[in-house]
Amino acid sequence: MLPMIESLKQTGGRKLAGVVFDEAKIRDRVAALGREISAAYPDGDLLVLGLLKGSFIFLSDLVRRIERPLQVDFLVAASYGLGTESGGEVRLLYDPETQLAGRHILLVEDIVDTGRTLNRLVDLLRARRPRSLEICALLHKHVAERLLLEPRFVGFDAPPEFLVGYGLDHGENFRHLPYIASLR
Ligand code: 5GP
Ligand code: MG
Repeated sequence: MLPMIESLKQTGGRKLAGVVFDEAKIRDRVAALGREISAAYPDGDLLVLGLLKGSFIFLSDLVRRIERPLQVDFLVAASYGLGTESGGEVRLLYDPETQLAGRHILLVEDIVDTGRTLNRLVDLLRARRPRSLEICALLHKHVAERLLLEPRFVGFDAPPEFLVGYGLDHGENFRHLPYIASLR
């Protein structure tokens, strides 16, 4: 199978360097994560908080694999800095309307790179006094120097490349690809 060629319509003719995680691999791993998460929360409410936009496809697949009661809400964060995607300050553009205090919160993120976004969000969320706070990241590059909270659930260890697809973008493109590919 040559997903690179298959996808040319979806990418507007732009060639990606290669598929890193294909649809079947993602499906299997997401199902396994769903089982892990179901088992990890034996009691209490569970609020799954998706960090937009990058987590939108992962989150929607993941929650359908979690076999326990849960609620879903979202966070929208914006980072400002030196114009690089992973730098600078992180500010919340949308704050969950749901009550966070006293609840089990599972923060769902697309990819952990420098860890700056996560650290800021962990700070923000801990200040709301949840009953517990854990992170589920689809991808983890393992390059972050200091994470306040290491993701408890990780889909895949990611190569040190710029990845797109399955929610991840480059200039807002490629989010809709059903697989994860390396840009170049
Ligand atoms: P961090 O704060 O951990 O450096 O950056 C996390 C954010 O940067 C992710 O949520 C994502 O938006 C973006 N990012 C980091 N690495 C990649 C990558 O390989 N591909 C894409 N599309 N976004 C990335
Ligand atoms: Mg992004």
